[in-house]
Amino acid sequence: METLNRADIDAGPVNPASVFRPEILAWKAYHVADSTGMVKLDAMENPYPLPDALRQTLGKALADAAIHRYPDPSPQALKALLRERLELPADMEILLGNGSDEIIQLLCMAVARPDAVVMGVEPSFVMYRVSAATAGVRYEGVPLRDDFSIDEPALVQSIEKHRPALLFLACPNNPTGNMFDPEVVRRVISRAPGVVVIDEAYHAFAGTTHLPVLASSENVLVMRTLSKLGLAGLRLGFVVGRHEWLGELDKLRMPYNVNVLTQIAAGVALRHLEVLTGQARAIVAERAPLIAALARHPLVHVFPSSANFVTFRVPDGPATFAGIKARGVLIKNLHGAHPLLANCLRVTVGTPQENRVFLEALALTLDPRNG
Ligand SMILES: *Cc1c(COP(=O)(O)O)cnc(C)c1O
Repeated sequence: METLNRADIDAGPVNPASVFRPEILAWKAYHVADSTGMVKLDAMENPYPLPDALRQTLGKALADAAIHRYPDPSPQALKALLRERLELPADMEILLGNGSDEIIQLLCMAVARPDAVVMGVEPSFVMYRVSAATAGVRYEGVPLRDDFSIDEPALVQSIEKHRPALLFLACPNNPTGNMFDPEVVRRVISRAPGVVVIDEAYHAFAGTTHLPVLASSENVLVMRTLSKLGLAGLRLGFVVGRHEWLGELDKLRMPYNVNVLTQIAAGVALRHLEVLTGQARAIVAERAPLIAALARHPLVHVFPSSANFVTFRVPDGPATFAGIKARGVLIKNLHGAHPLLANCLRVTVGTPQENRVFLEALALTLDPRNG
């Protein structure tokens, strides 16, 4: 037998550029800022660790984990606990994801027919656009108004033009923090020819939900996550909706997407949910004074928030971001992400102490004579 070398068949080089999709080669990698040694107020994390007693309980539960076995591919007990503790409708299905990021990706893969469109409002959560691109689906972003409310005529017009298979609406919205008018959301749902995903990642801080819409609208899914509630490290998100949708999505899901340790830890946390909801209440209680302090500053324009972060505008966003960072506080620079976010910054509500440190760093940055 004669052996053929690759070079005898095809003279072209083999490298990522010759093999991978060109749009992937053109992307920049998702950047997470280094926060070592800083006051970390950039990622909407709950600033409070679990109390000692609960950490002990968690440690004991995790010690019994059967990590030599594959996880339960569809943990019914965990779903039942979510249903009961988070008051999810009994007649709706639940699908678990490795964070809600994974669910966004599943949804985009599911609709990725050649002419499909995924739609969102802009600015909103970047993963909608990123996951659409990953799945090779066209993404259409419809700008919000200056005050970050939905431009209903523009959105309805765009829906009629592009007939999106998927429409993402984050309620409250990230990175703007506001809640959309539920009446507008309901009217938009009634005009949508595809699935409308209501992303309630910040539900714990908003005090309202669109879950009741599931009963009356056949094309709605409601997505939640435990991340912003205080379990960002576990990676557990879920979507609630009718079996006819979630049964199909479940076929796309990797069977072991939620690992053993996450299943156990989430179970423990949900059985002690009052700890996390208590922390969420403390965060909400800190939000109003943080907004008030920002509003008192003559150079700051602060936007209303129903989430665990506050978005505000300063005269020079990038310079202020850098000044705050130089003083040891990491927030998020939104300038450049979208024209509506010009000179905007986003700060996560931290502990009272962290918020004080942030406000001092901001005041010093905006007016060095204060120091
Ligand atoms: C943070 C966030 C998510 C992602 O949550 P994970 O469950 O941690 O993946 C989803 N949607 C919005 C709007 C978010 O801000």
